[in-house]
Amino acid sequence: MPVPLFDTQTPLAPLRDELRAAIERVVDGGRFILGPEVEAFEREFATYLDVDHAVGVANGTEAITIALRALGVGPGDEVIVPSFTFYASAEAIPPTGATPVFCDVDPETFMVTPETVRAAMTPKTKVAIVVHLFGNLAPVEEVEALGIPVLEDAAQAAGARAADGRRAGTLGSAATFSFYPTKNLGAFGDGGAITTPYPDVAERVRTLRFHGSRDKVTYEEVGYNSRLDELQAAILRVQLPHLDGWCDGRRAGARAYEGAGLGELVGLPVPTPGSSPAWHLYVIRDDDAAHLETALRAAGVECRGYYRTPVHRQAAMAPYAPQHDLRGTDEAARTHLAVPIYPTFSEAQATEVVRAVKAAG
Ligand SMILES: *Cc1c(COP(=O)(O)O)cnc(C)c1O
Repeated sequence: MPVPLFDTQTPLAPLRDELRAAIERVVDGGRFILGPEVEAFEREFATYLDVDHAVGVANGTEAITIALRALGVGPGDEVIVPSFTFYASAEAIPPTGATPVFCDVDPETFMVTPETVRAAMTPKTKVAIVVHLFGNLAPVEEVEALGIPVLEDAAQAAGARAADGRRAGTLGSAATFSFYPTKNLGAFGDGGAITTPYPDVAERVRTLRFHGSRDKVTYEEVGYNSRLDELQAAILRVQLPHLDGWCDGRRAGARAYEGAGLGELVGLPVPTPGSSPAWHLYVIRDDDAAHLETALRAAGVECRGYYRTPVHRQAAMAPYAPQHDLRGTDEAARTHLAVPIYPTFSEAQATEVVRAVKAAG
């Protein structure tokens, strides 16, 4: 049996009626932009995370741009960002007028460390973006201890908890989420959110997402048309109560891989000590990941090297590429390989993947 990389349909099957009813409720109400569903979702998402403010926006990329601006980032500033991440983490910086400064990652955890961030700091550093990549927990407090505000890119970490029980998205000065359909909490289209403990940051985010206006008549600063829409909010409200259960399923999948002996064949993901990662992707390490990728595909196991070319080596980022090599980043880019994981991933599937990895030699 082929094993897919992810499965977004099976977990939603039991919710079909509830989802249909939510969509009908919006159609019947006739409000499609910034109405009761978005308000309710913002409240429910903030309660779920245990953070004071959540604001819905159009997607996880604009969430980063808007959050940076709300944290005071502008022309002349520098924003530190890891190069081993989805491209959008860095792409979102230049629209603020600031310059991205790429930092390295630990090639075992795929996370920034206080050391890699410190190496990228200059007197112009305004904010550091840390990415909870693959649903693991990045060291937010250790980076903030360097004296710079942290924006958490939590696009892949909805449902992840740190060792002390606090959730990803509540640890820094602000955080951003993506509700792209394959993310752990996925809309039926694009969507995103910004969270923050600070009322002034939340207020500026609300203004920026609506053209830089509070009252829809006066325009204080150049903003964006970047809203989560009512249909997506209604759909997300149906799913949110199931997010923790889905993440439990992903963690059970990770345990199934361990139990089936995957760790004897390749490097397993390294969870932050004491944390409960959300395992958006289950990413193993192998010295010959390209060969393993080909062999697994041939055996019917879907897998993917997501970030083979790190962001700082992409053509669009050439103006911001560092003069020195980012050695941990290059190693992670070469060795990483995402193998199947999803909420309903079974022990039998884990066994099948492990068998294919073994056969690949
Ligand atoms: C998905 C993702 C984004 C962008 O989110 P969109 O909703 O697709 O714009 C940003 N950062 C990371 C790490 C992501 O995985």
